[in-house]
Amino acid sequence: MKTDIQIAQEAQMMPIREVTAGFGITEDDMELYGKYKAKLSDELWNRIKDRPDGKLVLVTAINPTPAGEGKTTISIGLTQALNKIGKKAIVALREPSLGPCFGVKGGAAGGGYSQVVPMEDMNLHFTGDFHAITSANNLLAAMLDNHIQQGNELRIDTRNIVWKRCIDMNDRVLRNVVVGLGAKADGVVREDHFVITVASEIMAILCLCSNIRDLKERLGKIIVAYNMDGEPVTAADLKAVGAMAALLKDAIKPNVIQTLEHTPALVHGGPFANIAHGCNSVKATKMALKLSDIAVTEAGFGADLGAEKFMDIKCRAAGLKPDAVVIVATVKALKYNGGVKKDELAAPNLEAVKKGIVNLEKHIENIQKFGVPIVVTLNSFLTDTEEEYEYIRSFCEERGCEFALSKVWADGGDGGVELANKVVKTLETKKSEYHPLYPLEMALKDKITTIAKEIYGADGVVFQPAANRALKKLTELGFGELPVCMAKNQYSLSDDAKKLGRPENFKITVRDVYVSAGAGFVVVLTGDVMTMPGLPKAPAAFNIDVDDDGHITGLF
Ligand code: ADP
Ligand code: MG
Repeated sequence: MKTDIQIAQEAQMMPIREVTAGFGITEDDMELYGKYKAKLSDELWNRIKDRPDGKLVLVTAINPTPAGEGKTTISIGLTQALNKIGKKAIVALREPSLGPCFGVKGGAAGGGYSQVVPMEDMNLHFTGDFHAITSANNLLAAMLDNHIQQGNELRIDTRNIVWKRCIDMNDRVLRNVVVGLGAKADGVVREDHFVITVASEIMAILCLCSNIRDLKERLGKIIVAYNMDGEPVTAADLKAVGAMAALLKDAIKPNVIQTLEHTPALVHGGPFANIAHGCNSVKATKMALKLSDIAVTEAGFGADLGAEKFMDIKCRAAGLKPDAVVIVATVKALKYNGGVKKDELAAPNLEAVKKGIVNLEKHIENIQKFGVPIVVTLNSFLTDTEEEYEYIRSFCEERGCEFALSKVWADGGDGGVELANKVVKTLETKKSEYHPLYPLEMALKDKITTIAKEIYGADGVVFQPAANRALKKLTELGFGELPVCMAKNQYSLSDDAKKLGRPENFKITVRDVYVSAGAGFVVVLTGDVMTMPGLPKAPAAFNIDVDDDGHITGLF
C-alpha cells in the first residue's frame, strides 16, 4: 500500500484555474499563490452572492479512536463521488495546524485516494493564513504589555489578564511562562501563557466573520483583561483593531486547491473543536454553497462536539441550513467504544462491534434532535470483515437511516458512489427541519444543562464554584444570550475519556467558564482542556525530511 504522501505526490495536479473553470470561477476571480493554490476574491463573492444556495451536507462522526476516523477522507471522497455521478459538488475543509503535523496525528489533507493536493503545501505554510493569525494575536499581546509598561492608563489588573500569546506548534514549555524579566525598560513582570494558534480566539473570529467590517467589529470585542474594578478591557480599548485587521485582510479570503480528482476544495480556517467551534470558515462554506449544487463540509471531533457546535454556533450565526448529515463510523471505533484496546483494534471482533454500536445509536438520535436527515457511512478499512459490515448495515436501516459502505480511501470517488447516491436520495426525498437545540434567550446554565442531558446523555450538571461565579458575572456583563461552546474530551460522550460506548448515570462537571466575546460564544470548560499540546516521545517530525530537490517525505 502506498502512503498518503506518495499518492499525493504521484498525482498529476491540474492548474488551479482549470480546476475552478468548470465551476464558473475565472482567473480574474482568484488571487493566485503559484499554479495550484489561490484565494477567492471579494469581487467573486459580490458577483455570486445573490444566487440560490446549493445543498449543505455536514460530515461528522461517532466518538473517535485517537487516530481519527476518516471524516476528512470521507468528505473529500464523497465530493469526488458526487462529481462522478454528475453533481457539482465542492468540499469545504479546515486548514491543518503544524502542531499535529509534527506531533502524533499528522496532517489533515484526507487519506489514500481521497485527498486534497498539494498536500505538503496545505499541511505546512499554505497561503500564510496561520502566520497572519499568529501575528495578529501576538500584536495584541505586545500592545497589551506595552500599554501596561507605558503607564497603564486603562488600569489593567495584571493578575487578571486573559489574552494569551500563540504559536502554531506543539510546544509544552510555553504553556506557562514569565514575561518581562530584566530591567525596568524590559516590561512589567507577569505570568503569561501560550496557546496553539488554532486555539486563538482570532482563529474562531476569522472563521465566523462575514467581511472586513464584521471582522473589525469582532476583533474590537475581544476581552484581553479586566481592570481593577473587574470590568472588561478590550482590543478596541487598546486601539489594536485596525492593525490586527490589516494583518488579516488576505487571511479572511477562502483558499481553493483541488481534490485528487481535480474538483475544487475550499480549505479555510481551522479552529479547535474544544474551546472553539471546530469548523472551516463561514465565508468558505457560503462560497461553496453559491458555486455548487452540493457543498460538503466537516466538523471536528465526534458529533457530540463537532456537529452540535456546527448546528448551534456556526449555522445559527451564519444563517446556514444543513440539508443532510453524514455520520462516519468505523469498525475500529465501534470496537474501541466496545472496550477493545488501541493496539488490538485490527483483529476481527463482532462481539465488540455489537457492544460499541450503542455509541453510533446515540449520535443518530442526537442528530435527529436537530431535525436533519442522516446517512450513516462506514469508512472501510482493510482489516474489517463482511460479517461486521452486515451487522452495522442492518442496525442503521432498522433506525430509518440510509447506510453506505465507503471505500473512498482505497478507491477514490469510485469507492464513494454508493454513499453519493444515498446522499442525493436523502437530499431529494427527505426534508430538513433544521433547528438549533436551544434558543439563545435561554439562561447560560440551562443551555449547558440542555446539551449535557440531550446530547451527552447526562443526568445533570455539577457547576463548580468558579464556574458559578463566572456564569453570574458573564450574565451581568450581558453575555447571557450567546451560544455556549462546550470544551469536553472527544473520546467519550461524557466528560470522562474512559467512559466509552453510551455512558449512563453520570453528571457533567463544569470547572470554569469564560467568554470569547469577539467570536460570540461562552466557552464552558469540563475537566482539563489542552490549548497547547505537547509532542510525544517520538514525534512525526523525526520522519519528515526534504531532499536536495525540495521533495518532502514523511508527512502524513
Ligand atoms: P478525521 O478527519 O476524522 O480526523 P482523517 O480523514 O484525517 O480523519 O483520517 C485520519 C487518518 O486515517 C489519515 O491518515 C487517513 O489516511 C487514514 N485513513 C482514513 N480512512 C482510512 C481507511 N479507510 N483505511 C486506512 N486509513 C484510513
Ligand atoms: Mg479531519
